[in-house]
Amino acid sequence: MRLVLVGPPGAGKGTQAEFIAERFSIPKISTGDIFRANVSGGTELGKLAKSFMDAGDLVPDEVTIAMVRDRLGEPDAATGFLLDGFPRNVPQAYELDSILGDLGAVLDVVLELEVDSEEVVRRLSGRRTCRGCGKIWHVEFDPTSKDNICDRCGSELFQRDDDKAETIANRLVEYAEKTAPLVDFYGAQGKLVGIDATGPVEDVTVRAIDALRSYGG
Ligand SMILES: [Zn+2]
Repeated sequence: MRLVLVGPPGAGKGTQAEFIAERFSIPKISTGDIFRANVSGGTELGKLAKSFMDAGDLVPDEVTIAMVRDRLGEPDAATGFLLDGFPRNVPQAYELDSILGDLGAVLDVVLELEVDSEEVVRRLSGRRTCRGCGKIWHVEFDPTSKDNICDRCGSELFQRDDDKAETIANRLVEYAEKTAPLVDFYGAQGKLVGIDATGPVEDVTVRAIDALRSYGG
């Protein structure tokens, strides 16, 4: 099964990606992992990407696309994969089609984790990160026994800029502008499957696996 996973920030994509990839025995390929592997492996693309990151610039699309192309060409991805973080927009979706076309493959399905904006704000704005050990807590879903103090190491908690209401609102607008057209694009191809991604993590996993069952595994 060749699968792309999409969903707004805070939809629990990373967690679900792990479970789905394991269930269908396909590699989970995230753009973050590809970046890290190239940079730490010292590949030409990694060096190029690092030069942009060190200068505080965004890594250009061409570099990301070249890394995805390399990764999808590796043997473990030959019969299937779960892609997380790529494509992010319609032009990248065309690039993915072109990469797969060169490999003699086609994308089977795009799974969208559906969470409304209010729920995303609730999930993300409640997150608190430990200054000491980095553990992430949640004021509502995973609270510490003492306010703002990590149960694990006793250090103070703080709210990352990424988890502040204003930043979340900006990220949601960005998601809607760039990724929503992607969802429409795959919908028009009949490749889109949406599931309700609210409620307990285990329930979402069950819904995801049910939705994907007919595509393989
Ligand atoms: Zn801690």
